[in-house]
Amino acid sequence: MASFDVDFFVIGGGSGGVRAARVAAEHGARVAIAESSRWGGTCVIRGCVPKKLMVYASEVSRNLDDARRQGWTIPEASFDWSSFIAAKDVEISRLSNAYLTRLQKAGVRVIEGRAVLADAHTIEVNGERITAAHVLVATGGRPRMPVTGRYISSDEAFHLPELPKRIAILGAGYIGLEFAHIFAGFGAKVTIVSRGEHVLRGFDPDLQIEAERNLAAHGITLLQGDHVDGVEHDLAMAAIGRDPASGELGLREAGVMIDGMGAVVVDEFSQSSVPHIYAVGDVTARAQLTPIAIREGHAVADTLFGNMPTPIKHELIPTAVFSQPAIATVGLTEPAARAAGYEVQVFRARFRPMRYALSGRDEFVLIKLVVCRTTNKVLGVHMVGADAAEIVQTAAIAVTMGATKMDFDRTFALHPTTAEELVLLRA
Ligand code: FAD
Ligand code: NDP
Repeated sequence: MASFDVDFFVIGGGSGGVRAARVAAEHGARVAIAESSRWGGTCVIRGCVPKKLMVYASEVSRNLDDARRQGWTIPEASFDWSSFIAAKDVEISRLSNAYLTRLQKAGVRVIEGRAVLADAHTIEVNGERITAAHVLVATGGRPRMPVTGRYISSDEAFHLPELPKRIAILGAGYIGLEFAHIFAGFGAKVTIVSRGEHVLRGFDPDLQIEAERNLAAHGITLLQGDHVDGVEHDLAMAAIGRDPASGELGLREAGVMIDGMGAVVVDEFSQSSVPHIYAVGDVTARAQLTPIAIREGHAVADTLFGNMPTPIKHELIPTAVFSQPAIATVGLTEPAARAAGYEVQVFRARFRPMRYALSGRDEFVLIKLVVCRTTNKVLGVHMVGADAAEIVQTAAIAVTMGATKMDFDRTFALHPTTAEELVLLRA
């Protein structure tokens, strides 16, 4: 058998790559990992984490309004963008360093530089050639940009020199809705330009309608179209999807199959068409979410070095759009359940939560269960409202366990909460 410098070389130090490298090293493999930008990848540096910090900061303006109507006297508040950005960047650096430290503690060789495949078993980085028995491609994705027009992407939105007074956002998916609410909360006049009839393609129609209502409630204009020309704005941002970062890595030359959208083609073990080359996370475009990249990376390490072949089934993935309020979902939407041939029963509640009883904020909670009439199984849980992501994460455990509507019904309510409606829904 040929001898290699390392057992496992990971290209990309983001969510999927870092997990795979660390677990493989803990299983006893000799591991190296290369990162061309900053440790932690999209999620930590320019995705989930800074975005959520922005959501928390942005929603303060609405909380202050509510507080005034709950008896608090609060003088006019102002927001300092540069102080926020500086504080956010300190936290991102702390997290990025924590990722690096964990890799080093696990005994992984960490390399800062852009890695490419020189041949199917050789990786070139910073002029050095390293041979590897197995390679993992975990290079993530990058923002898709419109062919014409001047736009920033979410990457730049985290480092704007100042807050725009008006911003137009092209795209009404996850990033479009999250940033629309973020900028609106900070006081900007926001327009979303959506090419679809409804926002959030693929989400349950009731959630789409509630999401559109919440855009209007926060003064966000929703226009139909496929470009932002003619919309008055200081700044235009594109949020029209993310492409797999599979180019210029030497993958095709090594024989790795790549599909028409640029995604590395893999099986349920994340194995590519070249048996010793694996790929996980956004570069495979199966589900572009951090917990999925992490789970896939962990599974590759267990399969290759832990003597635990671990396939991943991409089913029942909970997901949330961190709009204000949030939108969260797990399982089948009503149309998807019908299309799959289920006889569907729907349970739905829409109400103003007690949280806004005094402030009178114009915001509702929507909870919807999609149930199979024949087996009584809960096929999907869908929610819009404050804490929706927290609530749906917990409900996802029940749905993953195969809970029936009767299981929900026999669960005692925890009163007074928003989540109790999950166990109180009646036909
Ligand atoms: P990444 O985390 O992108 O890591 C890939 C790494 O590879 C990068 O650090 C890159 O620099 C490096 N790299 C690329 N090429 C090379 C090379 N040749 N050599 C060396 N290194 C290389 N997901 C959620 O679940 N929840 C959220 O709330 C959420 N919010 C998001 C908000 C935004 C604005 C964005 C853009 C994404 C968000 N996501 C969210 C998606 C999530 O960030 C990604 O699904 C996740 O980061 C994918 O992990 P990954 O390991 O595949 O890739
Ligand atoms: P999405 O796929 O969520 O949304 C893209 C939007 O852009 C859709 O409204 C789409 O319309 C529209 N669009 C696509 N192409 C064009 C075009 N050429 N011209 C005009 N409009 C167009 O992508 P995002 O960029 O918002 O996010 C990328 C991915 O990152 C998400 O899918 C998600 O996996 C991940 N992410 C996850 C987050 C989370 O978990 N909270 C947060 C942010 C990102 P149409 O519907 O008609 O296709």
